[in-house]
Amino acid sequence: MSAITADVRTYGHLIGGEEKPVEQLIDRVSPGTGQLVARFADGTVADAQQAIAAARAAFDDGPWRHTTGAERSRILLDLAAAIRERREQLALLDAEEVGKPIHLARGDIDGTIGHFEYAAALAQQLHGDVHTNLGPNYTGLTMREPVGVAGLIVPWNFPALIYSQKVPYALAAGCAVVVKPSEFTSSTAIEMTRLAAEVGVPAGVINVVTGYGMPVGQTLVDSPDVDFVSFTGSTATGQRVATGAAKTTKRVSLELGGKGATIVFEDADLDDAIDGALFAVFFNTGQCCVSGSRLLVQESIADEFLARLTRRAKELHVGPPTDEDARLGALIHEQHAEKVLGLIESAKQEGATLLTGGRRLEGELSDGVFVEPTIIDGVRPDMRVFREEIFGPVLCAIRFRDAEEAIALANDTTYGLANAVWTKNIDTAMRLSHALRSGTVWVNTTIDGGPQLPIGGVKGSGYGREAGQAGLEEFTELKGCLIHTGKRVPYYG
Ligand code: NAD
Repeated sequence: MSAITADVRTYGHLIGGEEKPVEQLIDRVSPGTGQLVARFADGTVADAQQAIAAARAAFDDGPWRHTTGAERSRILLDLAAAIRERREQLALLDAEEVGKPIHLARGDIDGTIGHFEYAAALAQQLHGDVHTNLGPNYTGLTMREPVGVAGLIVPWNFPALIYSQKVPYALAAGCAVVVKPSEFTSSTAIEMTRLAAEVGVPAGVINVVTGYGMPVGQTLVDSPDVDFVSFTGSTATGQRVATGAAKTTKRVSLELGGKGATIVFEDADLDDAIDGALFAVFFNTGQCCVSGSRLLVQESIADEFLARLTRRAKELHVGPPTDEDARLGALIHEQHAEKVLGLIESAKQEGATLLTGGRRLEGELSDGVFVEPTIIDGVRPDMRVFREEIFGPVLCAIRFRDAEEAIALANDTTYGLANAVWTKNIDTAMRLSHALRSGTVWVNTTIDGGPQLPIGGVKGSGYGREAGQAGLEEFTELKGCLIHTGKRVPYYG
């Protein structure tokens, strides 16, 4: 680790519109360079409780929930514009802290801006329904109201982007929030929240408490003053969150892990499918919940497909965050790299064949945490690499005979986040779109889409949806209201 220098950015919590003095700190060493790049306040139970109290006061007594949709929309658009102005700076923060290539981080910030702009549009049209067929003297209303104070727990793989899958939708609905970014990657959450204050989001509406899941995240989950928790992270932690939230009968949304399949039929455009299969697993160095980490390829084309795929994988350039040509970056930390390498080793021991990769990258990259793009063939469904989320640059290939077998293999997982199908046959495409048990299915594209479409999973990948109309509605409660007009027929005549 490098020495602490004066230019290492240091952040305190943002609570009730103020940046709190920092006591205990967490150092963030970039896994892309080995340099100390940031220091975050190590939040306590008391810090989290103070932030919850600030959000509670802002929601219960403040002006935000009473602003019009048009006002919220304007502020969200101003915030989107402010983020666009700082695009390069914000991208660099995420690139350094995650260890991802800068061009990917720029893409994340563009996606972030897209969510703020889309949520701004949704804020304008949030509405309920009127029921006029309930009898001559009755009018029924369904009213969408903000859920209240929301705890937003964010992981490290897309720090700005996942903040933006939660915060603008919560604000559009009229909520106040406490954000708990990952202890590894907290800078962009704080920077964007500072920008929110500059464009007029009232004090206390967005609070940020940095630090570890225990105690900060846990306090959000346990608190009776938090009405809703939106959690993105691993399945194991998500299950703890759901169990904890049950004690206060709190609603939760869980965006958890995945084990997606890239399914390639013999009639696919093979150039597109090869490109897609590579992107599906190596995007964000495989640290992506919707990764296509399992390759299901029809046996008639499997040998040629894997040979071409392997040649392309060997050409992919891995590099540090500021390397403009890098396609893959670092893994988040040493312990994670050990887990990824251990899973590759388990596949070899269980009889699979390594086609390329499988090792730690040294030489110029030895200061960081880099693992080669890896492809494993001859994988069977009982192997650990087929069943467990690897969350690294590791593709596991398996062959299928026909659509029925492809569907069975793809669904043979405890997860259900996203799958991609490559075929030029519309019947096959539609059959798989219906049969695959996942929150998302892509056809002839992968890890694609904008803020219009819902994000979320089934089975072990969680429940609840982010983004789109459904993502806004997660931050609301539906109230029924029945109004009688005119003289009543007495209840007790
Ligand atoms: P993680 O579960 O370790 O941590 C996620 C967040 O939860 C962090 O902010 C962490 O500090 C916090 N946390 C930890 N323990 C907690 C507790 N007991 N109570 C409350 N909060 C707690 O996950 P991670 O390693 O940061 O992220 C990687 C995982 O996230 C992968 O499994 C990935 O698939 C998943 N993910 C899912 C989606 C999705 O949309 N489904 C998106 C991105 C990442």
